[in-house]
Parts: sequence; structure tokens; C-alpha cells
Amino acid sequence: MLVGNSTVSAGTYWNQFEEVSKYNADLNVAERLWVAWYAWMQNDVLATGIMSFMMHELVYFGRALPWIFIDSLGLLKAYKIQGNKIPSLREQWNCAKFVLLSHFTVELPQIWLFHPMAQFCGLSTSVPFPSPWTMAYQIAIFFVMEDTWHYFSHRALHWGPLYKAIHKIHHQYSAPFGLAAEYASPIEVMILGFGSVGPPILWCAITGNLHILTMYIWIVLRLFQAIDSHSGYEFPWSLHHFLPFWAGADHHDVHHEKFIGNYSSSFRWWDYLLDTEYTPDALKRRRENKGLKSSKAQ
Ligand SMILES: [Zn+2]
Ligand SMILES: [Zn+2]
Repeated sequence: MLVGNSTVSAGTYWNQFEEVSKYNADLNVAERLWVAWYAWMQNDVLATGIMSFMMHELVYFGRALPWIFIDSLGLLKAYKIQGNKIPSLREQWNCAKFVLLSHFTVELPQIWLFHPMAQFCGLSTSVPFPSPWTMAYQIAIFFVMEDTWHYFSHRALHWGPLYKAIHKIHHQYSAPFGLAAEYASPIEVMILGFGSVGPPILWCAITGNLHILTMYIWIVLRLFQAIDSHSGYEFPWSLHHFLPFWAGADHHDVHHEKFIGNYSSSFRWWDYLLDTEYTPDALKRRRENKGLKSSKAQ
């Protein structure tokens, strides 16, 4: 990256930031912080790897923290979906240890590999940043692609042998909580994680138009989606009340409770189209269809 003489390493990160600011008055603060980081690190793969991993940990545990407080203080009991199953602090601590181990052993290499692969496909790390519109439509596409990948691979993971060998671990908690979002077998973390990392790489390979900042925002939003859908709480202000096709906790909690149906991650359309929804309406519809078929057979 060449912006002024910012590629010359200048002592501390903040020295580097001052140096970048001198030569790039046209850039905003976020852009200057960004340029200084890459210039200071002198190694794009390392710079992206560290930033991605730190961001992933901060967002994952940071987003799970409020749910831990809510559970242990019993603050929002009225909104808990499975009200009789509040996870204990010990349970959450054991889950956190397992998740941390998986982050360092399975996700770290995956995060590290992302940069060289995406760079090969033309990923941009330069400034100025892409427009909010460009980021928004690309992230919307990633959400749709991830959800599709998630639906079919998650459904496959419920096939007997695969369930026993891989997916059973994730279903240890029949009443999920935020931290349990990535509580899963390493193989599952790789299979489902591909749904988050694969679409941006594919998009970048086809269009050659992807900025790594878009990727970061996508991962943050996807983490929020995964943790919130495992939170175990359903509110009158939950997103799916305003966006009826959004899945949310209401959708995924039932999956953990019943072990069947509601396979997708972010949206409800695949479960609706392929008749795997687990809602009172869908169950009634299925019962009626069955009744119709058996009365025809007689
Ligand atoms: Zn499942
Ligand atoms: Zn789950």
C-alpha cells in the first residue's frame, strides 16, 4: 500500500499515524487509522490476521456478555423462550472454555488463510473506503449466500451418521444461550464457517470488487446474528416482527428444543419453501395435509 511515505516504518503506531496524517489530509480519521495500521505492521497478512482474530474475539465475547448478565441476574425472565431452562454460570464458563479452544485451534488458521486467498482474488485493503451503499448491497448478498449454505449443510448434518459424528456436540444445549453459538465440533466449525468466509471470496473472485472493511463488517454482523439467535430470548421488538423473513432467536431456539426443523441461519424462506419450518402454523398445515392424503387413500 502506498500512501505518501506511510510505508516507511515510524516507531510506534501513533508515530505512524501522525506520519500518515501529515501526507493524507484528505482521508478521514478511520481511514488514517487503517492506513497507519497496515503501514506500521509492514505485513498485510499479519495485519489482517491479527485484526480479524482480535475483532472476532472482542465481538464474540463482547456480544455474549450482556446475555450472560441477563441469564445470571434473571433480568428478563418474562422474555425467555424456554423459561424453565436458565443456564448456570458454571455451564456458561465450561462452554466459553470449549469455544476459546476451538477459536485458537480451528478458527485462527481459517482466519489467517482468508487474507492470502482473498488477496489472490483481488481483495482491496486501500483507502478511501468503499461507499456505504456498496458495502450494504455486498453484505446483503453474503447474508443470502451464507443462509443458503447454512440451510443445506445444517440439514445434512441432521442426517443420522453425520449427526452422531459431528453435529451432536452443538445440540448439547437444548435451551441455547449466546455463548453456545460456536459451541460445535471442529469439523462443524469448518463446514459452517465456510458459509461466512466462502461467499466473500467467491464474490471477490467473480467481480474483483471487495474491500476488506466490507468483510469485517459482514463478519461482525454475522456474529451478532449467530449469538443473538442463540440468546434464548424473544422480545416484542425482535427484528423478525418488523422483517417477517428474518429468523432470529424465535426460530433457532425451537431447533435446539425439538432437534428438528428450522435449519437456516438468518432467514426463514428456505425452511418455508422446503417445508421444514417448525412453527404451530406449519405443524397444523402438515397435519392437515397428512389427513387429506390418508382420506384420499381410503
Ligand atoms: Zn442442528
Ligand atoms: Zn444452534
